[in-house]
Amino acid sequence: MAIEHFEVELVDASMIAPNVKHLVFKKADGSKFEFVPGQFITFLFDHEDGKLRRRSYSVATIPNQTDLIEIAISYVDGGIASENFFNMQKGQCFNVMGPAGRLILKENEVIDKLILVGTGTGIAPYRAMLPSLQTALTKNVKTVYILLGVQYQQDAIYAKDFRQYVKNTPNLHFIACLSREENALLEDEVKGYVQRYFEKLDLNPAHDVVYLCGNPNMIDDAFALLSEYGFDAKHVRREKYISSN
Ligand SMILES: Cc1cc2nc3c(=O)[nH]c(=O)nc-3n(C[C@H](O)[C@H](O)[C@H](O)COP(=O)(O)OP(=O)(O)OC[C@H]3O[C@@H](n4cnc5c(N)ncnc54)[C@H](O)[C@@H]3O)c2cc1C
Repeated sequence: MAIEHFEVELVDASMIAPNVKHLVFKKADGSKFEFVPGQFITFLFDHEDGKLRRRSYSVATIPNQTDLIEIAISYVDGGIASENFFNMQKGQCFNVMGPAGRLILKENEVIDKLILVGTGTGIAPYRAMLPSLQTALTKNVKTVYILLGVQYQQDAIYAKDFRQYVKNTPNLHFIACLSREENALLEDEVKGYVQRYFEKLDLNPAHDVVYLCGNPNMIDDAFALLSEYGFDAKHVRREKYISSN
């Protein structure tokens, strides 16, 4: 799919965690937004220093629910995109390019355990993958674990969607790993960092595949750990959430 330049218009916005906003856009020309689940789009901001700034966001849209573009953005104090996104009004338009990105499912790849790990908003691409995961679980993938790493229960964005799909999909699991929560945990919640959950999964580097998305430190830690288990780079797919300039 070619990378397009297009304009989007904000149609809805809501806080979904204390520090995270869910934003919904439509393409300004009214055409349908096409993407592969797991891809991101890049917003182009004119900054006051005269330079163009690029900020990328994973598409969180569940394809069979809407044609709109949904993203989740975590607020960074003073950040160029954060200040724009947290102060924008409905109807405001932005220049965007995309979709792009290789954190996508490979069609027909035979996998025993597919482990999808995301910290914070890094869970967004897996929300978009939910219908594709349902299909893959009837064909080429035996089991899927979606592991979300956040600090507290209240930070677990999109947990409702994951739980809904888990209820209706055999061999799909969702675990929220909460690093700081002191309250009682739900059945699918555990205490600790997300990468610590690997030891519970009896991973096999020959037959399992791991996707890592979000906080760069989590990705480096998790990759180091998986390398110790014998995973090579081919079986670990990574997307670090960093600003490009
Ligand atoms: C492929 C890709 C997909 C991405 N998808 C998402 C997504 O779905 N949701 C999302 O929220 N982000 C996502 N990001 C990160 C996003 O592009 C921005 O980097 C992020 O929103 C911060 O941009 P900003 O302009 O608000 O802050 P900036 O202007 O980039 O940063 C302001 C200051 O804060 C620091 N900073 C930047 N990020 C953080 C942080 N996370 N924590 C603490 N300090 C920080 C910077 O070093 C700088 O000093 C993605 C990045 C990539 C590369």
